[in-house]
Amino acid sequence: MLPDFRLRQREYLLEISRAMTARLDLASLLELTLQSAVEILSGQAGLITLRHEDGKFAPFASIGLPRQAVPLFEPLWRDLDANKKKEENSLNDIALRLALASRAAGMVLRQVVALPLEIGEDIIGYIFIFRTYGVAFSDNDQHVLSSFAHQAAIAVHNAQLYQALSAEHARLNAIIENSGDGVMIINPYRIIQTWNRALANLTGISTDDALGRPCYEVLNLRTNQGVSVCHTQCPLIRPPVDGRLFAEGMHQRADGMLISLANHYSPQKNDDSKITQVIANVRDVTHFHEAEQLKQTLLSVISHELKTPVSIIKGYAGTLAREDANWDKATLAEGLAVIEEEADRLDKQINNLLEASRLQAGGFKLRLGYLDLAQVTRLAVQNLHATTTKHTFEVDFPLDYPAVLGDYERLREVITNLIGNAIKYSPEGGIIKVNGQYDRHKKLVYLTVSDQGIGIAPTDQEHVFDRFYRVDNRLARQTPGTGLGLFLVREMVKAHGGRVWVESASGKGSVFTIELPVGLDEQWLLTDSKKITN
Ligand code: ADP
Repeated sequence: MLPDFRLRQREYLLEISRAMTARLDLASLLELTLQSAVEILSGQAGLITLRHEDGKFAPFASIGLPRQAVPLFEPLWRDLDANKKKEENSLNDIALRLALASRAAGMVLRQVVALPLEIGEDIIGYIFIFRTYGVAFSDNDQHVLSSFAHQAAIAVHNAQLYQALSAEHARLNAIIENSGDGVMIINPYRIIQTWNRALANLTGISTDDALGRPCYEVLNLRTNQGVSVCHTQCPLIRPPVDGRLFAEGMHQRADGMLISLANHYSPQKNDDSKITQVIANVRDVTHFHEAEQLKQTLLSVISHELKTPVSIIKGYAGTLAREDANWDKATLAEGLAVIEEEADRLDKQINNLLEASRLQAGGFKLRLGYLDLAQVTRLAVQNLHATTTKHTFEVDFPLDYPAVLGDYERLREVITNLIGNAIKYSPEGGIIKVNGQYDRHKKLVYLTVSDQGIGIAPTDQEHVFDRFYRVDNRLARQTPGTGLGLFLVREMVKAHGGRVWVESASGKGSVFTIELPVGLDEQWLLTDSKKITN
């Protein structure tokens, strides 16, 4: 029969080891381990060292020792090395080392017992327990501490593994969360398990709203044919042959914006080749598609709009140059006038293309000066008047209309474009009015150009300022143009800190208004003027 106190000691040990294995937080586990060891052995202080990657040991927790004194006990573990064989890690002269250390720390510690924390052949640390009185640690003490150390080693090792696992988990999460691409992970039931920040930003759907729901409910991408990508293209439905799968679809954000998303699926399989999860990398390819579209439009604009005047010029020049023909003066003048007109048109369209590409490349700068928009308008009307016999012009600016800080050439271009369109898109003629207005309080000037032409349907009104946009009607088809004029108008006006809009109804004429600040806000110039490169 074991004596009573030993029995109690055993029970206590069992209790402690249960408590220790339940703890996964390393710091609090080490604290509990030390507290228990000191208590079991009736010690006054204790210290735990843990192994570093290089095999050396360093203190991780202590009890009953002033914090600043802990490093002074370094002689105790200085020569210990986990990479050495067990028998070489001798603690023979430990009493001497304790005497040195406690003297350095100014403490009276007379006895020490040290036990390795072992996992198999590996030593992961040491527990040191100190007594202030002279009674040496007995064999029973050694025995108790050794079985305690065994339990403690397992608990510490588990906590270390858990800590490493948590750190790895946090690292992976941080990588996924901070990835520039959208990342979605779905389980074999197509339930969303991960939805990172980039994807939340891209789709406008928050992580909270996405997690735990099936992908066809949340990111219901549809192909151009209207087929749901999650229903048909997901690797769980259609296993990929080469391990990866690519699918593209459209997604409508809550703010109404339609974006084009590309999904790269990577299915993860277990040992039985069953898909356990699918990682989807989601990328916004809207700009890519837009650029493609733009390239196509540009090519067709160049082929249609630039080729037409060139062939007219070539035709007239060829005819006029024929040696067998004897043209009279009037025919010659008429032919040359057509050539000049077409060359002008060509010049204008090339300029528009150049200006648009300059905008794209960001090489667009304003040359600012104070200018009189009324005078700019009168000059533009004078020039354009000569191109039409069907229209009459009314220009009206109030006397107090102020000078505006702006780029003369760009604003002349804006006004010429608006009046030119008013002429082009009112083929029956009519009155074209250009009015100026001044809002003294808001320090804003307005300039409106109104015509009595074909007008613009409401659905087209929001698009006429888009690059290359032309309303699809018979007149527009017959009228030369690149769809760049109003785009440039909007960008130039924006660059001046202003805005432009249209009010119109089909068949009832159109009113284009530009609003400009009288003097540009310097702060605005420094920041926003860079943004026009869109
Ligand atoms: P373009 O005149 O070269 O086609 P713009 O960018 O100047 O290009 O105009 C875009 C489209 O807006 C035109 O194709 C035309 O359909 C429409 N539009 C512009 N101005 C008017 C107007 N005053 N009245 C009716 N439609 C207009």
